[in-house]
Order: sequence, then structure tokens, then C-alpha cells
Amino acid sequence: MKFNTQLIHGGNSEDPTTGAVSTPIYRSSTFHQHVLGGEPKWEYSRTGNPTRASLEKLIAELEHGTAGFAFASGSAAIHATFSLFSQGDHFVVGSDVYGGTFRLINKVLKRFGLEFTVVDMQDLEAVENAIQDNTVAVYFETPTNPLLQIADIKAIADIAKKHGIKTIVDNTFATPYNQQPLTLGADIVVHSATKYLGGHSDVVAGLAVTNDDEIAEQLAFLQNSIGSTLGPDDSWLLQRGMKTLGARMRVHQENANEVINFLQNDDHIGKIYYPGLKDFPGHEVAAKQMRNFGAMISFELKDGLDAKKFVESLQLIDLAESLGGIESLIEVPAVMTHGSIPREIRLENGIKDELIRLSVGIEDPEDIIADLQQALKKLD
Ligand SMILES: *Cc1c(COP(=O)(O)O)cnc(C)c1O
Repeated sequence: MKFNTQLIHGGNSEDPTTGAVSTPIYRSSTFHQHVLGGEPKWEYSRTGNPTRASLEKLIAELEHGTAGFAFASGSAAIHATFSLFSQGDHFVVGSDVYGGTFRLINKVLKRFGLEFTVVDMQDLEAVENAIQDNTVAVYFETPTNPLLQIADIKAIADIAKKHGIKTIVDNTFATPYNQQPLTLGADIVVHSATKYLGGHSDVVAGLAVTNDDEIAEQLAFLQNSIGSTLGPDDSWLLQRGMKTLGARMRVHQENANEVINFLQNDDHIGKIYYPGLKDFPGHEVAAKQMRNFGAMISFELKDGLDAKKFVESLQLIDLAESLGGIESLIEVPAVMTHGSIPREIRLENGIKDELIRLSVGIEDPEDIIADLQQALKKLD
């Protein structure tokens, strides 16, 4: 099955008991056991639930993994993944990561004795040099949030393999539609499914996938032990959203191209961050490892222009956290999604106070552009 077919017919796309073509919502916390001490397929919904299992099978197939796990949020999926490791273990992590991941690492995981070295993942030599005797894994996003930096997944996974450590990729921005890190050598993929996978800004969810049986067994154990699982209603809603991922991504990306053309020709706009631009530093690696370049665009206004006034003047595009929804969403990372990162560190990593991040929706592109245009005019 090819990808778009898989989105619709993958997972347990049909209910075996009724033939329902939409996986039913099994809203049951526990399951009747007919034999005492037997090994029932379903026993308790934290451990396993048929609706969640359908979603987990689907994401495993889409990412070319052998096992998928659904969590209450992307952050919960990332937390469970780091819980595979122990006190004293060291990680090489990308310098540009989602603000909440930065917070999880610095305010939570460090307290439990995990150690981290932050590295620019575009610099392969720096990645290799950061590996220590106690390093167990590299962790990064590509494209990154919010600077859209591109890391070469295969090259990094090759370095990791050479040193006997794992590669973990946050694939939220690309989605499996654009890139499948496990096929490039990664061991674990995590997602904030709240974003493109859900796609409609109506569910908070996270996913993890692996193709390593030992990791799969441990992740199942941790998912059950920590208990941050996705409920059956949200599992259904997420799988419903994922069926149209391919159709949505095609329109998101067509629109992103039109918005890029507009931004490139507008005098208010300074630097544009988009991997599809030929002169963008990560363009060639992105072209090699991604099907297309996604629909996340970051940009700076020219010096002296008021980012606050610009985003507050928009009428159609929602000023909101999150991304990947059908509606265009805009935000200022320094104040919003990456506000939990201290200013000096943020600036060092290239996230200026005026940086604007736009998640291009699937509205008619003329309307998105007209809204950007009228808000930019207010700055004159
Ligand atoms: C949003 C996001 C997360 C966190 O996911 P939640 O579902 O909000 O917990 C992790 N990584 C990236 C890249 C994100 O954009």
C-alpha cells in the first residue's frame, strides 16, 4: 500500500466484530475475563485499548516501525521516551527544540540525573565531538521549531551507530508524509500529534514509534507504568484526522509556496526561514530526505518594524500557539511557544524577539495573503 492509501486503510481500519469501517470508540476502562489467570487480549485500558491500538498500529505502519504508542500529549511521548534511560546517562540534543522539550530537559529530566549537551545538529563534527563515554542517544528535531533548521538524519544516525548509541527524532514538523526517520537509521520517532497528524486543532496527543523490539517492549512497559496514555475518544479523533493527512499536506504546501512568493516580494520582510528556499542552509539535505518542505515558515520583519502590531492586526490568521491545523496560525516564539527558554539562550540559538512563525493553513491562499498584506500595511 502506498502512503495515502495507508492513511485510510492502515491500522485496524475495519472493526472485526461488526465490520464498521470507522474504528469504534471502545469507551471501556476494563474488559471481562472469561478465564481466571488467562492471558486476555484486553484487560485494562491503560495497558491496552482497541481504539488506541488501531491508532498505534497505523502510526507504526506510516513510520515503517514495528510498534507505535499513543500518549496524552507530545510532551508525554517525549517524557516516556527519555524514561527508557537512567540516572547518569548522557544525551546530545539539538540546540533548536520545542520550548516545552527544553523545559522538560532542564527542569525535570536533569533533576532525575540525566545529562545533556546541546549541539547545533547541522554541524556533524560538533555532534560527534559531543559524544561521551556515557552518551546513550542523540535527540533532535528536523525541521526544527521554530528556525526550520535541517539535520541530516542519516548522517547523524550513522555517527550514532558507530558509537553504539540511539537516534531519536521528533518528526512533528515533517510528519511521516514528508519524512520517515526510521528508514534513515533512527531508532525512535516521536510526535506531537496535536499538530499536523490531528490536523484540526481539536485534540492534544503524542505518539512514539520504534523498529527495535527491545525498545518496543520497554516503551510498552513505560507507557503502562507511567500511565500517560491517550484515551479512546482522542485516539479515535486523532485517527480520523490522520486519514486526510496526505490531502491536507498537499494543500498546506501549495499554499506555503504562494505565501513564500508573497513574503519574498514584500519590503517589510527581512530574513525568511523555509527549507524549500534554494539558498536556505539546509535546503539540499531537506531535498534529499524529505518528500516536500512542509508548510511552516518563520520570518523576521525588517529592523524597527513592530512585530506585536503586525500580529495583532491580523484578522483571518489566528494569533495562537500550536501549528499544523487547517487554519493558518501565527505566533511570536520569544513570547509564546519558546517563552520558557531564557532570553540569552534563545538569542544565542538565533530566536530573535521579533521572529514570527507562521503555520500556513488550507484556506484559499488569496485570503491568507490578503490578511498578511493588510497587517503589513499597518506598519507603514
Ligand atoms: C508541540 C510540540 C511538542 C509538544 O507536544 P504537545 O502535544 O504540545 O505536548 C513537541 N515537539 C514539537 C516539535 C512540537 O511542535
